[in-house]
Amino acid sequence: MTSPFEFSLSRRHLLASLGAGAVCATTFPAFGLTAPVQKIVVIGGGMAGATVAKYLRLWSNKAVEVTIVEPSTTYVSNIMSNLVVTGQYAPALLNYNWSNLIKNHGIKLVKGSVSQVTANGSGWSVSVTGVAAPLLCDRVVVAPGISFDPVLDNIAQPVAVLHAWQAGPQTTQLRDLLAALPPTGTLVMTIPPAPYRCPPGPYERACVIADYLKRNKPGARIVVLDANPDVMAEPANFKNAFSTLYGANLVYLPGRKVKYVTSGISPYSGKVTVDIVGTGFVEEYSGDLLNIIPTQRAGAIAQALGLCDSTGFAPVNGISFESTLRPGIHVIGDAAKTSLPKAGHVGNQGAKICADAMLRILSNQAPYATPTANSACYSPLSSTVASWLTAVYQYEQQPDSSWKYVARDHISTTTGPTEAASASTGNFTKMNTWYKTLMTETYS
Ligand SMILES: Cc1cc2nc3c(=O)[nH]c(=O)nc-3n(C[C@H](O)[C@H](O)[C@H](O)COP(=O)(O)OP(=O)(O)OC[C@H]3O[C@@H](n4cnc5c(N)ncnc54)[C@H](O)[C@@H]3O)c2cc1C
Repeated sequence: MTSPFEFSLSRRHLLASLGAGAVCATTFPAFGLTAPVQKIVVIGGGMAGATVAKYLRLWSNKAVEVTIVEPSTTYVSNIMSNLVVTGQYAPALLNYNWSNLIKNHGIKLVKGSVSQVTANGSGWSVSVTGVAAPLLCDRVVVAPGISFDPVLDNIAQPVAVLHAWQAGPQTTQLRDLLAALPPTGTLVMTIPPAPYRCPPGPYERACVIADYLKRNKPGARIVVLDANPDVMAEPANFKNAFSTLYGANLVYLPGRKVKYVTSGISPYSGKVTVDIVGTGFVEEYSGDLLNIIPTQRAGAIAQALGLCDSTGFAPVNGISFESTLRPGIHVIGDAAKTSLPKAGHVGNQGAKICADAMLRILSNQAPYATPTANSACYSPLSSTVASWLTAVYQYEQQPDSSWKYVARDHISTTTGPTEAASASTGNFTKMNTWYKTLMTETYS
């Protein structure tokens, strides 16, 4: 099978793949926006926030003023971070910053964390920790990524966990502790219930860690406890890798939801007690190293601003990503509650749909009614081979009259994403190109 970039694409799919977020390219940048200049504040400069800021400037012909508020000095990419965990890639490969967005597009950057957003006339007042005067703007985009539910011990006290699911210091800490795993040691990794950030990500991590163990500590193993009933993405390729590449080094157990964690003596060692979902039984797994990926919600600021419902994510109108709970505020990326997967490539696409819709709203036009997003995602299955997953997401009306993004196979009319026919070294090479292209497109 060809790679996701080698398909013969229909016109609709071509528009999606070109990165326009599949909104109507012919209207750009003619939104007719004139003075007074509209101001937009973007909370968070990650994959979604950086993209929306760039395309608001590009497609308005710089007619809107865009400010990103971001506490970090460097954006550390989660994408490719599993290969930093195994020591194959240097941490610096993950580092990006906003200097090209400032230079090329005139985006403003305010360093700090947003603590509050309040209505201010027909606009908004955005308070930033450590910045004296609030930022005044016409619309706000909230793109803070995810936060983690606390993981509890057996008397319901929070325990410190090493998740490495927000790339940064925990990524290199997991790398160092993996390198220090005893030759016959056990690493226990847990996968939270969906929805979580990056559906294939945990299985990708399990594979590259198993590959590392096979090569460096053949007597050691990784035990994967999945709260979900089955592998949540690319099931054929991951299950094939589990059984054919890693039999002895990898044990995969679905339907195991973390109940509590008992810390051991050495850092991040201990015991995980899991519910066997639907049975009423529990099991215990001991690990020399525990990599617990907690249940996820929208970033804390989205919760604090009253943008989230009981799922922990922020419901939005799918054509504009405008909050259904606080109109005038848009929520994009992993924090939004949509049928789109929580992934960087999809965050980039959703941000473009949001930018287009905002510019139409600001110029008194209706947002485009049937947007399309696409996603391509490569997963390393070892230090040399990778697979991929791709889909086009069409915003469609459902039989019950509701609307949602539906994954469409690129080459047939069936629904659902397409995965590579098999893992290959060629895919591994293309994965590196895809990563650099996506990150450069987002941060320049
Ligand atoms: C191990 C791993 C592998 C992955 N691999 C892939 C992959 O191969 N392909 C793919 O497409 N996706 C992948 N992902 C998923 C991808 O990284 C996320 O979906 C993506 O980063 C989400 O973008 P975001 O903008 O919503 O959040 P983020 O990229 O996390 O950005 C959020 C930003 O908001 C900032 N912020 C938070 N709170 C505030 C506040 N109060 N004020 C101001 N700023 C704030 C943060 O500092 C951060 O910079 C992977 C994830 C993981 C963990």
